Amino acid sequence: MVNSSKIEKAIESLRIAEKIANDFYNKPLVVTYSGGKDSDVLLDLALKSGIKFEVSHSVTTVDAPQTNKHVNRTFKKLRDQGINAYKRLPSYKGESTNMFDLIVKKGIPPTRMIRYCCSVFKESTEKNRVIALGVRSAESRNRKNREVFSTWGNGNRNKAKYFSKEHVEEVFKDAKSHDEVWDCVIVTTARKNKTIIVNPIYEWSDSDVWDYINENNIEYNELYNMGYKRVGCILCPLAKRSEKQRDMITFPSYRKRYIKAFEKMLEVRKQKGKDDTTGAWKDGEAVFRWWIEDKNVEGQMSFDFTNIDKE
Ligand code: SF4
Repeated sequence: MVNSSKIEKAIESLRIAEKIANDFYNKPLVVTYSGGKDSDVLLDLALKSGIKFEVSHSVTTVDAPQTNKHVNRTFKKLRDQGINAYKRLPSYKGESTNMFDLIVKKGIPPTRMIRYCCSVFKESTEKNRVIALGVRSAESRNRKNREVFSTWGNGNRNKAKYFSKEHVEEVFKDAKSHDEVWDCVIVTTARKNKTIIVNPIYEWSDSDVWDYINENNIEYNELYNMGYKRVGCILCPLAKRSEKQRDMITFPSYRKRYIKAFEKMLEVRKQKGKDDTTGAWKDGEAVFRWWIEDKNVEGQMSFDFTNIDKE
């Protein structure tokens, strides 16, 4: 059973975030929704908190069909309740795009070191708003030592500033009416209408999330019943090798689509004077093998990245 203080803290965080969004941005809080279990919990908490919010889903173009189905089903329910739930379609340099098109345009597969797809599909969408995310500390080592509230830092963890719920509550008490009272970074960020992030379930464990889902009868993505522990982009370069292997078995058509994209990418590289025929990238299949193997990650890092189309 989830500790009631965790639920209360999450709901209070959402209410504080909503107030900042209304007072400083004159726009509702945006609750982001990925179709994964954490975002289902976040959404349910937002509904229970009684705040006004809108819901945004960033289309990555490599989500599993099960995820798309779950997002559509959830968004229909939200819209039936009068909540503005919308999808953000990706664009690159002003044109609509998808993962396979982007690989050709970038001239390199996305890797752990060069995650250009994240910046196009996920990080470039809801800017200069107050945004609620389902990020949790327990998800990875990279996500530890943060706080419930943060500034954006242009997506750079080292530049982002983190603030506890208690601190944010305190500094925003009089911030709207008394300009001189608090000279705190998060207040300044709100005054400039730059992005503020709230992670209401930051301190929740995996079992908290599942307990909450079961206790509240929340419908979840069917991928979890197929053995998936995390739901995300198919064949994500950040996934473990075992997760990628499972993706290849569960979604064989994606392997083919990636190989085709790598073939087109090699053609464009050739037109730009890059001869890959003698190296590890002799054809689309070879690029795919290079890309998918964890043991090649070191090679991915030291590969010649010149001529990459930098955004
Ligand atoms: S494939 Fe991975 S790195 Fe790329 S957008 Fe999806 S989550 Fe981010």
